[in-house]
Amino acid sequence: MQDLFPLLNAAFDFALGGVAVVPSHYPVPRGEHPCSGALVLECSCGNLWCATPARHLIGAYRLDDASTAAADVCRRWMAHPDGNIATPAGLLFDSVQFHDPGDPEQVLAWLEGHGVTVGPVLQAGPGSLEFLVKPGPIRVPQTHGTLTYVGHGALVLLPPSRTVGDDVLAWLRPLEAELPPGDPLVDALAQLPDPLDRL
Ligand SMILES: [Zn+2]
Repeated sequence: MQDLFPLLNAAFDFALGGVAVVPSHYPVPRGEHPCSGALVLECSCGNLWCATPARHLIGAYRLDDASTAAADVCRRWMAHPDGNIATPAGLLFDSVQFHDPGDPEQVLAWLEGHGVTVGPVLQAGPGSLEFLVKPGPIRVPQTHGTLTYVGHGALVLLPPSRTVGDDVLAWLRPLEAELPPGDPLVDALAQLPDPLDRL
């Protein structure tokens, strides 16, 4: 049977599992690219210059409104059936966003081969990984431009949220995996060799 409300159902499952969720803006079609004909997406907030497209809360919602109550989830996603699923960082986990041109599974294999514990991992499109870690704070090496630490006061998007790049978030390692501490993971990512040197 076709899943008519995939985001509502997923949000409900997260809430049942104790992960507080709140609706985020999401990608909407803006038109076709004049040259390639490809679909162009923009943030549902309607601001062409949105700084965090499809990654900020809808309307008056705040991170404090994130809820595990079934009634809240049903009401909110019935009102916003395409809403991305956000959860506040710093409650159950923080995240480390990592952008890398290499094969994601090779990145994970390299980390695990070097004794680094990898917990739940999200993929948000080509080259974009997000590692969930124990709530911080953690130190992020200042010199490494591809690492972004997402901690208290920020949000983490959960699958099947979508990006304006027309990608759907997916788990590379499941949410059930044990959360590792963030510092060893970040230190290891900062030392990750070039893609051809990881084998
Ligand atoms: Zn926006």
